[in-house]
Amino acid sequence: MFDFDEFYQAISVQDAVRALSEDENAVIISGGSDVLIQIREGKLAGCSLVSIHDLPELVGVEKTTQGEVIIRAATTFSHIANDPIMLDAMPMLAYAVDQVGGPQTRNIGTIGGNVCNGVTSADSASSLWALNATLELTGKDGTRLVPIREFYTGPGKTVRRHDEILVAIRIAKADYEGFGGCYLKYGKRNAMEIATLGCAAMVKLSADKKTLTELRLAYGVAAPTPMRCVNTEAAVQGAPINEALLERIAEGALSEVKPRTSWRASKEFRLQLVCELGKRAVRQAIINAGGNTDV
Ligand SMILES: Cc1cc2nc3c(=O)[nH]c(=O)nc-3n(C[C@H](O)[C@H](O)[C@H](O)COP(=O)(O)OP(=O)(O)OC[C@H]3O[C@@H](n4cnc5c(N)ncnc54)[C@H](O)[C@@H]3O)c2cc1C
Repeated sequence: MFDFDEFYQAISVQDAVRALSEDENAVIISGGSDVLIQIREGKLAGCSLVSIHDLPELVGVEKTTQGEVIIRAATTFSHIANDPIMLDAMPMLAYAVDQVGGPQTRNIGTIGGNVCNGVTSADSASSLWALNATLELTGKDGTRLVPIREFYTGPGKTVRRHDEILVAIRIAKADYEGFGGCYLKYGKRNAMEIATLGCAAMVKLSADKKTLTELRLAYGVAAPTPMRCVNTEAAVQGAPINEALLERIAEGALSEVKPRTSWRASKEFRLQLVCELGKRAVRQAIINAGGNTDV
C-alpha cells in the first residue's frame, strides 16, 4: 500500500496549476518512478498527489520552423530514445536517456521528472547542460523560461515554485546543429544502476577537422548539482586536435569538479572517472564530428 492522502488527475496544465495552488502539500506525480518510491520510503508519506500523467499537451517532441527542438516534459525516456527528431538532431541525449534503469523504468519515467527531482545523477542532466537547454515553467503567475544552469540550487533542490509545472524543455538550433556529442555513464552494473559519474561532451570542429572550435563538457555526480567545466571549455577553444588535447581537457576538468564520497564511490575514484570519462567522451565526440585525435 502507498500512504498518500488524495489523488487528483488533472485534465490540463492549467487545472494542475490550480490544484497545486490550492494545496501547499500537494506533490506533482508524472510517471511516479521517483515519487512512489519516496512515498514508500516515508519521505512523502501522507501527501496529496496531483497527476499530470499522459496529459496530451505534455507529451511528444517537435521541431519548430526555426529549428528549435521542444521536448514536452511528460515524454517518456523510451519515446525520446526512439524519436526520429531526437535521433537526428541530438543523438547524444537520445542515447543518454536510454541508459536510465531498465525498460520498465524507461517506459514510465519522464524527462520532466528526471529534471525536476533535482538530482545530480539524473542521466538526462549532463546532456541537457551541454545542450544549453531552456526550461519552460508554467505556474499561477504565468510562464517563464529558465536556463538549465540556473535551475538547480543544491542536491534535490531547484528554483521551481510549488505551483509551477515544467511544461517543456527547449533546445535552440544553434545549441545542437554542427556538434558531435557523446554521453558516457559509469555505474557498477551495466543496467538498473544510478550513475556513479556521468559525462556529456559536445564539440564543434573547423572545416578541415584539425582544430577544436568549441567544447562543451558537462558532468553529473561531479558536484552537488550537474555542472559544466566552463574554464576548461574556454581554455581549449582553437586548440589543435590530438591526444595531448585530451590530457589538457582532463586536467582542466579536474580543477573544476567537486565530487564527494558516497556509499557508491569515493571522491578519489570519482576524480579518476572525471579524467577517464572526460577523455573518452571528448574523443568519441570528436570522432562523431568527423575528426580524429590519433594524429
Ligand atoms: C528501478 C529504477 C531505476 C532507475 N534508474 C535510473 C537511472 O539509471 N538514471 C536516472 O537518471 N534515473 C533513474 N531512476 C529515476 C527515475 O526513473 C527518474 O528520475 C524519472 O525520470 C522520474 O520521472 P517520473 O515521470 O517517474 O517522475 P515522478 O516520480 O512522477 O516525479 C519526480 C519528481 O519530479 C516532479 N515532477 C515530475 N514531473 C514534473 C513536471 N512536469 N513539472 C514539475 N515537477 C515535476 C515530481 O513532483 C517529483 O518531485 C530510476 C528509478 C527506478 C525506480
